Amino acid sequence: PATLGVLGGGQLGRMFVHAAQAMGYQAAVLDPDPVSPAGKVADVHIATAYDDEQGLAQLLQRCEAVTTEFENVPAEVLATLGAHRPVAPGAAAVAVAQDRRAEKAHFAASARLSGVGPAPHAVIESEADLARVPQALLPGILKSARLGYDGKGQRRVASRDELAAAWAQLGGVPCVLERQLGLRDELSVIVARGADGAMVTLPVQRNVHRHGILAVTEVFEGVLPVRLAQQARDATMAVAAELDYVGVLCVEFFVIDDGSADGALVVNEMAPRPHNSGHYSIDACDVSQFELQVRTLAGLPLTSPRAHSAAVMLNLLGDLWWRSGNPTTPDWAGVLALPGVHLHLYGKLDARPGRKMGHLTVTAADGHEARRVAWEAAARLGLAPWR
Ligand code: ATP
Ligand code: MG
Ligand code: MG
Repeated sequence: PATLGVLGGGQLGRMFVHAAQAMGYQAAVLDPDPVSPAGKVADVHIATAYDDEQGLAQLLQRCEAVTTEFENVPAEVLATLGAHRPVAPGAAAVAVAQDRRAEKAHFAASARLSGVGPAPHAVIESEADLARVPQALLPGILKSARLGYDGKGQRRVASRDELAAAWAQLGGVPCVLERQLGLRDELSVIVARGADGAMVTLPVQRNVHRHGILAVTEVFEGVLPVRLAQQARDATMAVAAELDYVGVLCVEFFVIDDGSADGALVVNEMAPRPHNSGHYSIDACDVSQFELQVRTLAGLPLTSPRAHSAAVMLNLLGDLWWRSGNPTTPDWAGVLALPGVHLHLYGKLDARPGRKMGHLTVTAADGHEARRVAWEAAARLGLAPWR
């Protein structure tokens, strides 16, 4: 059988491997960690650094096409591989997503098509940039331009003094300062785009974050205003098309108050890969985000995914494995006794607080029921409730 390759061996790679194997492919994973979540389940595991020439040569030799699950894989590596095999997403698109400066500029450009733009922001690369920051961007959030995730590399700043201190604390690296917006809600959209330009989107996700980390995703009829969800889908497709993107892309949005009943969209950031907020699609849709990744990579047709169940996803962070400073095993039997609970654990051995260890998706006939069961599951696990 044909072999599909993935750069990165985290949980996203693991779920890609599962989807590829279910469709009859072999899967090869390249990740420096010899016991990565995806490497452990792959047919071929190449345990080298991402830019190791021998490792990349081996990957090329074994694979018909290559994708990525790790957004900070050097873009040059994708370009090198792309000279020999189909690589989706491509180096140029990933390079934009890797740098908040380029990303925001891209969003500003695609806003001309979609009408949905980024938050007011400024690029900070020097002392002079700091001095020029308009007062209207404060209070704001200073974000390192590169390498941030799960709220890492970000500082909330209320004044110019705090801004200067925060920039120094981040090591004076290139940053983007965004105005801190009053968020009414957050949502995200997953789009898959084929090499022929065909696009499909998953039903729109409503997301709840805690401490900068995704905690809950809800997807069901009525969870978001229909008009807003459609606008987010259109804006996401505009972003993908303008990038000439091939593969699975996730775009995150804020909903802010603008005096209208539904509120207005602001585009936050994108991930050039399947996304945590799309995990619900494994259990609640007829085509998951990982199957879409396989299809775009293998050049297979894209059909419009349909959600057959209402879904609520709860992230399971390492904190759950600790009680009053002592290691513990969460009560899986307790939550699995509830109807429609799907438990996913990523095979990580080290349950550090804040680390994504797994997730749980509740599927049900309607949103009311999915939420009721998810609240009960959260209570049984000791997770905080949400609205
Ligand atoms: P991810 O793991 O999603 O890649 P990240 O580290 O790239 O996270 P962001 O998506 O930029 O971080 O921000 C994380 C969260 O912080 C957002 O989902 C939102 O809740 C909050 N946030 C970020 N920027 C703003 C803003 N300008 N105004 C208000 N809240 C914000
Ligand atoms: Mg991010
Ligand atoms: Mg984010």
